[in-house]
Amino acid sequence: MRAAIAVVSIAFAVPSFGAAETTRLPLTIEERTAACLEVEDEDSPRAIALADSVLAEAVPPPALQVAEAHGCRGWALASLGRRDDARRDAHALRDLALALPPGADRVRLLRRAGGILHRSADRVGAVDLYAQAVADAEAQGLEAQRIPLLVNLGVLHSEFEEHERARVNYEQALALMQRLGDLRYEAPVRFNLALNLNGQERFADAVPHLRRAIELMESSGFGGPAQLLKARLALATALLETGDKEGSARLLATLRAADRAQLDPSTASELALVEAARLSREGRAAQALAILDAIETDSLQDFQQWTVLNRRATLLERLGRHAEANVLLRRAATMREAYLRHQNHERLAALDTHLRDREQRAELDRLKSESERREREMEASERQQMIIASVGGALILLAIGLLVWQRRMNRRLYEASHTDPLTGLSNRRAMALELRTLAREASGTALMLIDIDHFKRINDEYGHDIGDEVLVAFARRLREHAGKGALVARWGGEEFLVVLPRSGAEAAVARADTLRVALAKPVGTHAGELVAHASIGIANLPLPGASPGGIEPWHVSLQLADHALYLAKRAGRDGWVRYWIERAIPDWPAERIGREPALARSLGLIEPTSSRPLREPLAAVGA
Ligand code: GH3
Ligand code: MG
Ligand code: MG
Repeated sequence: MRAAIAVVSIAFAVPSFGAAETTRLPLTIEERTAACLEVEDEDSPRAIALADSVLAEAVPPPALQVAEAHGCRGWALASLGRRDDARRDAHALRDLALALPPGADRVRLLRRAGGILHRSADRVGAVDLYAQAVADAEAQGLEAQRIPLLVNLGVLHSEFEEHERARVNYEQALALMQRLGDLRYEAPVRFNLALNLNGQERFADAVPHLRRAIELMESSGFGGPAQLLKARLALATALLETGDKEGSARLLATLRAADRAQLDPSTASELALVEAARLSREGRAAQALAILDAIETDSLQDFQQWTVLNRRATLLERLGRHAEANVLLRRAATMREAYLRHQNHERLAALDTHLRDREQRAELDRLKSESERREREMEASERQQMIIASVGGALILLAIGLLVWQRRMNRRLYEASHTDPLTGLSNRRAMALELRTLAREASGTALMLIDIDHFKRINDEYGHDIGDEVLVAFARRLREHAGKGALVARWGGEEFLVVLPRSGAEAAVARADTLRVALAKPVGTHAGELVAHASIGIANLPLPGASPGGIEPWHVSLQLADHALYLAKRAGRDGWVRYWIERAIPDWPAERIGREPALARSLGLIEPTSSRPLREPLAAVGA
């Protein structure tokens, strides 16, 4: 069973400035900016007023001051939950930062803009900015600045459940910290990394990080008693899973002795889970069950409730109480489905926010670049005349060459930001833009969400590099066999999205079979020939019956394809499941189907087709 990964965010201190002036607005622009930075966390309205006054100056202050003011106001706005306004400031800040010469200020301001976007629901935009800042810092040799950026990226990737990337980020941050001897954040970084490793069931790798993190937390008090407790629990889990029963038992004994009243419900339930796991390993299933039965689940998060249910069911099975176990398993399945839907919804919402902002910005950028282009043209023609007058043709060729080079660089930058570096396929961002256009076409499109089966086993058995080789091979096969006019993207870790414009229901299924067969052929890797399969969830785009102004049609279709994929996995993998909805369903707008496909199915409103027999839906309880 996979533990959900908790994330510890780390607040990196903003450099502090002179004494705060709290009664009247300070006089100079510098003082007002500094005062804004000083109070941005405690007194957001005042920070906003201070920044407003700087930005309203008749004679614009230097660019750096303006940037600071946008940063400060954006941060304060985000604290107040005024996300749209906060994002506007983040974009202004980003534009100003990018106009600065490369260097420490630019990296710092990009990170700041990323932080504001992160706090105001544009995680995709935040990842972009952090990634840009990391690249900038790397190019400038600003090594120390990369540390917090890598940590921030790690946290964001964890939030997106992109655990592999998060792990790489944390590991890079740690290596850099060690190399530079800057170990201020060693404890939280190791802790985050270890939770990530535990979540990926790499318990042995997690143990040394947890030991060190705990040692540091004990000696420095970093994170307070609650975090320390969590770290110890994580260590107890990892030790238990790696077979160190005594170590785990010793640790649990100290935790049990701790003041129960200090434990919040979630930590208390984690403690109970580890205790129960230990007892059950010792063959004491009944005692383990008693501990789990005593957990107050009401105040727990969904995934925790789900874990408790599942473990209780396993123990009941072991005790031969099958009927009770079945009831719990059903509840757990429904709950897990709801949780996954929710996660996916969050991810899509973040992407949606990002794309919406991009569209608004695109219009502004277009106007700006139009006027800049005119200016440049005028300058260029003046320059050209001078060049012709002075040195003649050779230099013009050079100038043209430079222009062509520049255009090519721009093109390459654009491509890089729309391409997945490992497979060369379009990335999620590029595909999202295509989907948006396709959703407006009446002719109908098929979405196929393809997820490699048991991919984790390949990684575990042969290593990550071989896993990557399989990903690359699958990407190539998808491109080769997707057919003319099809779009193929890497949608996430080991998930691909194949899109067939102008496709009917039968054509989609025929294509899914072709792809399934192509993917099932052995893959030649450095570890020899491997066989992997994939499961496919299919849905049509757009679904009929969308309410105007609702969430984007492609989100809805993708939610349905995701549910189909889930069913395909449940039916035994290596197969496809298709939803193809041709007519609107009374009282069920498309958005609701996307949100609650399991319920819609159990009520008989939608009916999947599949390559293998499906499990019956759970009966709907009320609707
Ligand atoms: P299932 O059949 O249920 O899909 O099983 P699974 O093992 O594929 O399950 P899951 O989706 O949980 O695991 C996906 C794994 O893909 C986890 C992660 O380690 C791995 N992964 C994600 N991105 C990459 C990558 O870029 N390279 C490699 N090698 N592995 C990756
Ligand atoms: Mg997957
Ligand atoms: Mg998979």
